[in-house]
Amino acid sequence: MELDAASADNQALVDQTLADGFRWLRFPAKLERAFVEHHGEERAVKLSLAALSSFIVYGGVLISDYLMYRPDMGFALALRVGVYVPFVLIVLAVLRQLNRAALNEWVVPLVAGVACVISGLIALTGSHPMVYTKVVELLLIVCYATVFARFRPMVALSVGAALVHTTVIFTAVDTLGTLRLGASFLLLTTVSFALYACYVREHNDRLAYLLDVREQGLRSSLKATNERLETAALTDALTGTANRRAFDEFLTQSWARCHAESQPLSLLMVDVDHFKAFNDRYGHQAGDRCLQTVAEAIGTCLRRPVDLLARWGGEEFAVVITDADAQAVAQVAQRIRQAVEACALPHAASSCASVVTVSIGLASMRPAEGDQPQALARQADQALYKAKAGGRNRVCVGDEPVAQAVGSEAGQREVAA
Ligand code: GH3
Ligand code: MG
Ligand code: MG
Repeated sequence: MELDAASADNQALVDQTLADGFRWLRFPAKLERAFVEHHGEERAVKLSLAALSSFIVYGGVLISDYLMYRPDMGFALALRVGVYVPFVLIVLAVLRQLNRAALNEWVVPLVAGVACVISGLIALTGSHPMVYTKVVELLLIVCYATVFARFRPMVALSVGAALVHTTVIFTAVDTLGTLRLGASFLLLTTVSFALYACYVREHNDRLAYLLDVREQGLRSSLKATNERLETAALTDALTGTANRRAFDEFLTQSWARCHAESQPLSLLMVDVDHFKAFNDRYGHQAGDRCLQTVAEAIGTCLRRPVDLLARWGGEEFAVVITDADAQAVAQVAQRIRQAVEACALPHAASSCASVVTVSIGLASMRPAEGDQPQALARQADQALYKAKAGGRNRVCVGDEPVAQAVGSEAGQREVAA
């Protein structure tokens, strides 16, 4: 399973691993599993192709067998084609069946190890007087494996190749001491370079993986921060409603949409009555809580996602309602007024009620060419002024007060007017 780069725990683990280093080419268990799995699919294909392509490389040596060690050709052919090829195919089939990323890493050293044994056998048992020189093949096999293998399996292969090499050199070449020395030196340098190359490559792969996970984590935390900032930039901190900026954007967009679709657009300006007196009487903090309660109460009256409640400023809220006729909007306005009143927040300093109330100015327009959304805001503001002047705790459309019980016949007449 892939590591969740967005998790803080995983990021801490990656940072710790980077700080500690991983000179033994091992991560903490959770990270190790994720690393092996992450490259699993790609490595499985690469390693299988390496094992299959070794048929060509290792089979190609038959040409030199034919040219140099002709008497031993039959034996070499039998081992290379009759043993090596089926062995590789069986190993690949078994590993594919097991489907374990960690085991796949052993495929190249395993088949290369068997190739070493086969070459060693030919070198030990061949009848040609120079057949022991086939130990050079072991060096080639080690080099070939180096291109693909991870460090640890490569250590195992190097030990195996060294055993076979030493056996051949010390068994078959019984006269030439200097040849033994030279051959051993060749083996030692080849294996050293091979292991060094494998170590550096694996270390780099691991480092690249850790940096990649860290980058992913940074990118996702940056994205989350941006989203938070974006939300914060459009939200009123006190009430959690949209703020003035969000309101302006929303009104402009709604205006354009309603203009294009010939739909009515309505705006309610909701203002808390005698709020200054409320603050003076109950304190600023109570005033803040009051604004939160009023915002919540207004929110409960807006059920459609296309409507927007915003804090216009101070103790004033704005509600944008689209695609609703004047009567439906007036009903919403009345519901809001009633909902705030029903919160029953005591307001002993109010001259219009014993609880906190709001006055609402309502304006509706069908946006036409040349009109501006500000015209709608102006009309709603004028209506609010009328509602205040008319005694507060009421809804006004234009100059007209909306009847308390919108929906009644009288109410419908007044809204229509
Ligand atoms: P009216 O009925 O005519 O609307 O009278 P009002 O007192 O509500 O209106 P006015 O504009 O005179 O006063 C508004 C008050 O709202 C003044 C200001 O201190 C207060 N106010 C504005 N924003 C906040 C806020 O965020 N928190 C608190 N607690 N008070 C606020
Ligand atoms: Mg007010
Ligand atoms: Mg005001």
